[in-house]
Amino acid sequence: MASTAVVKASIDVVQIVGADGVSSKVRAAMGAQYLTWNYGQMGLVATVRLSEPTENKVAWQRFLPTGPVALLPLTDELSSLVWSINSDEARRLLNLTDECFADALNEALWKQHPRHPAVDTATRRLDSILDSLMLRSSAVRQLQPSVAEIEPNSRAAFPLAFGHSTRYMGAGVVLIGDAAHRVHPLAGQGVNLGFGDVKCLTEQLTESVYSGQSIGSKSPLLNYETSRQRHNVPTMLAIDGLQKLYSTEATPIVVLRSLGLQLTHALTPLKSAIMNHAAV
Ligand SMILES: Cc1cc2nc3c(=O)[nH]c(=O)nc-3n(C[C@H](O)[C@H](O)[C@H](O)COP(=O)(O)OP(=O)(O)OC[C@H]3O[C@@H](n4cnc5c(N)ncnc54)[C@H](O)[C@@H]3O)c2cc1C
Repeated sequence: MASTAVVKASIDVVQIVGADGVSSKVRAAMGAQYLTWNYGQMGLVATVRLSEPTENKVAWQRFLPTGPVALLPLTDELSSLVWSINSDEARRLLNLTDECFADALNEALWKQHPRHPAVDTATRRLDSILDSLMLRSSAVRQLQPSVAEIEPNSRAAFPLAFGHSTRYMGAGVVLIGDAAHRVHPLAGQGVNLGFGDVKCLTEQLTESVYSGQSIGSKSPLLNYETSRQRHNVPTMLAIDGLQKLYSTEATPIVVLRSLGLQLTHALTPLKSAIMNHAAV
């Protein structure tokens, strides 16, 4: 008599990848603790048309007393604006006509702000020390672009906050991207952190499958969480520190941050190390 054996197999899988952004419902359902604070600022974004088409390859950022304003290249004629500014001012800027907004933006990009003489003296002295050590950068400083107009209906503003989920994993669940972490846009690192999460999670899951483990087993997810938190948390704290460092006009802090920036620019290995850390 022929018999048919029915083989039942259960396959463990990672059931959910929470990639649902800063207000992640997956994170809430996991019951993960979430550490967050607001910056009292909004990130005002828009697509802007430059006054003159250029080989638009440089991302510009200017740290103003009110917050950083950045232009990120899109094409030779268009750039993407990210302007971090206090929430009331952001709402005012959102309500301006396109022409008035372009004027306000050009003023933010170009207006000269008086510097404390102590800052000038300190940076000049450091310049001459770097010169004597032949460490001064030979890079030619390019001027920031001017904006001709704003692309219609491209303006929007988003609240800015810090956010850290203490867990990136639960049973069959992982968090990636802004669901796991949220940073101020001043360092342009939000997407990079998310890409790093995806790369790490993929590697961990692949490795666990090749080594014969179930794809749903805990250890690759735990490795993912540990590895990414080791990278992400220091990066997030550094960005938060920069936000605070550039939110003050106290002269000693302005002197220190100006010298720090000058040194970082001059010391190529230090600059490369920072860029390499930010790239993963
Ligand atoms: C003003 C501003 C400027 C920024 N500038 C930069 C920058 O210059 N460089 C940079 O690297 N980063 C920047 N960032 C950060 C960057 O935008 C984020 O880090 C990135 O978008 C996070 O990607 P994500 O896929 O994790 O989340 P999101 O981009 O938020 O995507 C989450 C997606 O999930 C969807 N979703 C949510 N809930 C549900 C649900 N219940 N069901 C179905 N779908 C759902 C949402 O609709 C959304 O499409 C900026 C952020 C802001 C606010």
